[in-house]
Amino acid sequence: MEPERNAVYLVKVGELTLKSGNIKDFEQRLTQNAQLYLEGKNARVRLRAGRMYVEAPEASAGAVEYMLTHLVGIAGWARATIVDRDIAAIKKAVYAEGLKARASGAKTFKVEARRSDKAFPLNSYEISRESGEALYDEGILAVDVHRPDATITVEVREQCYVYGSQHPGHRGLPCGTGGKGLLLLSGGIDSPVAGFRMLARGMKIDCLYFHSHPYTSPEAQEKVETLAKTLARYGVGTHLNVVPFTKVQERIRDSAPPDYATILLRMCMMKVANMACGITGAKAIVTGESLGQVASQTIENLTVTNGFAAYPVLRPLIGMDKDEIIAVAKRIGTYETSILPYEDCCVLFSPKHPVLRAKADETGEIYEAMGIEQMLGEAFAAREHKRFGWLEG
Ligand code: ATP
Ligand code: MG
Repeated sequence: MEPERNAVYLVKVGELTLKSGNIKDFEQRLTQNAQLYLEGKNARVRLRAGRMYVEAPEASAGAVEYMLTHLVGIAGWARATIVDRDIAAIKKAVYAEGLKARASGAKTFKVEARRSDKAFPLNSYEISRESGEALYDEGILAVDVHRPDATITVEVREQCYVYGSQHPGHRGLPCGTGGKGLLLLSGGIDSPVAGFRMLARGMKIDCLYFHSHPYTSPEAQEKVETLAKTLARYGVGTHLNVVPFTKVQERIRDSAPPDYATILLRMCMMKVANMACGITGAKAIVTGESLGQVASQTIENLTVTNGFAAYPVLRPLIGMDKDEIIAVAKRIGTYETSILPYEDCCVLFSPKHPVLRAKADETGEIYEAMGIEQMLGEAFAAREHKRFGWLEG
């Protein structure tokens, strides 16, 4: 009996090829991140010439595919078969892929061959033509080189790889190459997407959530924890800091003009975010704001909020519309959680007519008059801390 072959995956490493300066660091980080998901799985991860190769025993194939559907920094991946470097073996593997494609509904196909080893006796065109022959001779699939239902790829390298369908990956830069950001995470649709966006630019993301028990329910917080857990899977883990903000919200309600409640709350959040950055080593604050989406998100109000941040405020969704944001939320699996009905704190204290164009000096004076600084320090000191890992569960 033949020994059981390892499961083999070929991974296209997207944008890394562009970053000539620090490409070594990026490649190393990508490999390390991939290995983190596969600890104890007997898997081997290698990166060579813009390709990542993952090999693991069949029993670990599920773990490899979990990694590939969460790892950031790859353009796409496919499970491949390694075959002997001769055309008979290639034909057999292409035939098997063709049958699989047929079984999943494909009617047409093409074979795309690449040959980096020029010593191989056939050129790419010949490999494509010969290896697909049996499939169209036997009427299993018809050839369509322009818009095939299925593409079967043959790569003749130091080994020979054959694979069928390719899965898209999460493009971007490997998490951990872009410093750390502190995400203001609420239970809405936007902030988890904002966190993912920065994560996919290489940032490690820690999260900060403000709750207002008993005005907000425990379910609202559970929702945020679920969102943090989902982000953790892409970000090789995350920390969630939960800060009690009830007293702060009540102080704002009782001592400031109602129209200013939302912007004052944002300013208080920034002050606490500064404290959290100081402790976590984050170099930026990330929010899910999008210009004009709600009254508090005018350029004037965002500018006033910025004045209270001691770090750059990154708003990756600033120019995106809601449909685009929702599409990302669905892709990364946060949407279903975000649309659960439990309200986060802002909604309950929201004024009917929030100030649209806050002025920095005026708003600053209202803020000062509230005498809220000490309360903010106490709220931060009373925070709860949770850590979520990158594996499911
Ligand atoms: P989201 O969908 O992310 O909740 P939103 O469109 O509802 O955003 P706002 O409620 O105005 O907008 O909040 C703007 C941003 O402020 C959020 O994207 C988030 O980054 C931050 N934020 C709001 N509420 C909280 C909270 N309770 N805890 C932490 N951050 C918050
Ligand atoms: Mg919200």
